[in-house]
Amino acid sequence: MSHTDPARIEQIRANLQAARARIEAACAKADRDPAEVSLIAVTKTHPADDVRILSSLGVTDVGENRDQEAAPKAAQTADLDLTWHFVGQLQTNKAKSVASYADVVHSVDRAKLARALGDRAAAAGRRLTCLVQVDLDEGSRAGVLGPRGGADPADAPGIADRIAEHEALELGGVMAVAPLGGDPDAAFARLYEVAAEIRDRYPRATVISAGMSGDLEAAIARGATHLRLGTALLGSRDMIVG
Ligand SMILES: *Cc1c(COP(=O)(O)O)cnc(C)c1O
Repeated sequence: MSHTDPARIEQIRANLQAARARIEAACAKADRDPAEVSLIAVTKTHPADDVRILSSLGVTDVGENRDQEAAPKAAQTADLDLTWHFVGQLQTNKAKSVASYADVVHSVDRAKLARALGDRAAAAGRRLTCLVQVDLDEGSRAGVLGPRGGADPADAPGIADRIAEHEALELGGVMAVAPLGGDPDAAFARLYEVAAEIRDRYPRATVISAGMSGDLEAAIARGATHLRLGTALLGSRDMIVG
C-alpha cells in the first residue's frame, strides 16, 4: 500500500469528511464555532504513507504515542511541514529523542519530565509546547487499573508552573484521556475545571486536548479545543499498542 493507492486515499478522505461532519454537528449542539476545534490525526500503527495521504487532504497536525514509532515516521515525512504531537506516556530517558522532533507534548505529568524535556529542547535549540496530562480516573490513581499516565488533578497546577518557568517550554494547557468504561462527560467536565484554574494564572494556556474517536461529542460539549482522532480517520489498529 502506498500513498498513491487510490482506494486508501478515498477511504481516508471519506473518514475525514465523516469526522468533520461529526465535529460540526457536535459544535452546533454545543453552540460552538468549529474553527475553535482542532483535529489531530493519531497515526500510531499506521504507515508513514498514511501520514502523506492525510497531509495531502489538508491535515496539518499528527500525533503518535510511542517514541520508537514516532521518531522514524517524523523523519520519513520531514518534507511535509507537519506539526507533531506526542500523546503517549513518556519515560524521562526518551525526552531527548522526543524533544528533537515533537512540537507539542501532551503527556507531561510530572516535574521531572518537564525539566528533562525543557533541558533537551534547549540543548537542541528548539522550543516545545507542553500540556499537563491530568488523570481523571480515580481507579487508575489508586493503582487498580494500572497506570495510564496523568497527574492527580490537585498536582496539575504545580506541574504547569514547572513548565511555564522553563525558558525552552511553552505552557499550552491540559490534556486527558477519558477513563475506560467511565462517563466521559463527567471526566471532561472535571478537566474543564482544571483547565480553567490553570488558565486563570496563565491566560495563554488555552488548549484543552480531550476527545478521541469514541467520545469527541462529549469533549466538544465540555470545551475541548483539540481532538485526537485515530480509528475514526484511519480504521482499526492491531492491538499491540503499548
Ligand atoms: C491512540 C490514542 C488516541 C486516538 O484514539 P482513537 O480511539 O483511535 O481515536 C488519542 N489519544 C491518545 C493518548 C492515544 O494513545
